[in-house]
Amino acid sequence: MTQTTTRSAVPANRLEQHIEDFKPPLSDAQALAESHRCLYCYDAPCVQACPTEINIPEFIRRIATGNVRGAAKTILEANILGHSCARVCPVEVLCAGSCVYNEKEEPPIMIGKLQRYATEYAYEKGIEFFKPGPATGKRVALIGAGPASLAAAAELRIRGHETVILEGRSVSGGLNATGVAPYKYKLEDALKEVAFIQRLGVEIRENTLVGRDVNLTDLASEYDAVFLGVGLGPDSQPGVPGEDKPGCVGAVHLIERIKTEPGFKLQGVTHAAVIGGGNTALDVVRELKQLGVPCVFLVYRRDEASMSGYAHELEAARLEGVEVRFNSAPLEVVGEGHVTGLRCVATRLGAPDANGRQSLEQIAGSEFVLPAELVVKATGQEKLSAFLGAIPGVKVDKGRVVVDQATGQTGNPKFFAGGDCANGGKEVVNAAAEGKRAARGIDAFLRHGAPNADFHVTIK
Ligand code: SF4
Repeated sequence: MTQTTTRSAVPANRLEQHIEDFKPPLSDAQALAESHRCLYCYDAPCVQACPTEINIPEFIRRIATGNVRGAAKTILEANILGHSCARVCPVEVLCAGSCVYNEKEEPPIMIGKLQRYATEYAYEKGIEFFKPGPATGKRVALIGAGPASLAAAAELRIRGHETVILEGRSVSGGLNATGVAPYKYKLEDALKEVAFIQRLGVEIRENTLVGRDVNLTDLASEYDAVFLGVGLGPDSQPGVPGEDKPGCVGAVHLIERIKTEPGFKLQGVTHAAVIGGGNTALDVVRELKQLGVPCVFLVYRRDEASMSGYAHELEAARLEGVEVRFNSAPLEVVGEGHVTGLRCVATRLGAPDANGRQSLEQIAGSEFVLPAELVVKATGQEKLSAFLGAIPGVKVDKGRVVVDQATGQTGNPKFFAGGDCANGGKEVVNAAAEGKRAARGIDAFLRHGAPNADFHVTIK
């Protein structure tokens, strides 16, 4: 096992550096003015909509009174990943979407931007709000250096436990570092947050893959508890003939190259087709437009109402010039050698299937070919069922680790879990909440032998 704490470096000459921030930060004057708009609601609906229950009116009031440091403290005490969540949270459907101003048909408070203003202030000033608790002598291993493990590790350090995160890749931060759309959050920002967590004394061992470099059984005997924060696996394959051709790539893999690979370029791509209807598909089409690809298609088998991607992201993609092809099923990735296009067929709804979901019928004679030198598969990520299911006592249902909803504990008392491997793939803020929940569960397990009900953590 590698025995060193690592700090990920930020390579130069990465493609994401050519992508602009879509939501520029607030100036001091803008932040002050926006904070004074807040009504500081009692039982604020914005707080209820936040999975980490940040006291939003309190932090906004602190900005309004010039106490930006205090605002950052309020945020980070509730959500140690408040820096990334300010940037990557879909506020339109969470806090800002619940703001009372929506009922007045006035713009909601810019909660995400105010959160960014406060947390960036704290980061720039190097303010450390937290310190490790008195040492308990207990050691916890956390598998995967994504948001769930980082949030869990920070909470465990504050409670005095030793923590070691084992990360198979050469970069920490999980999808915050390698998978978030660059127009929302860039690699160097994600690594600032990782460093913030590391300063609490969290050890991270990169290039250390459990199952390859570390034996899981040894890990379980060496540590007092283990947290599973492994996220999801590689891009799923939609099973379209020709999907292995050069120029046909997975979305998560492509985004990772854009964000992290020095010198990576999209050479000769004038048309691109992205298959999928989720938020990753929407992220990719917008990134490709930002990178100057003139013609970008979003290809989805069903209609707009069936999309799992957020409506506001779809609207933004359309405004940026993405051509959306609903009711279009991919039939084949075409091209002799390298990809030249995507052959599709128009679809319509058929009879409901056994689960009540309407089946799709292909419309005879409606085939068409979209030109594309790049085809991106954004149809989800594989689950790590084999790895997770091999842990004695850990139950896996539909690829998700089954956990106790109050403590994050799995069927094996020593193992806890949170984030995408337990929730199937949600937002960073959900991973942050679940990591914190599990840390409290682990703390109770280490102190009392079993998680107890002396804490209350709501997971939405
Ligand atoms: Fe402020 Fe809107 Fe939250 Fe009310 S709901 S406290 S106005 S941000």
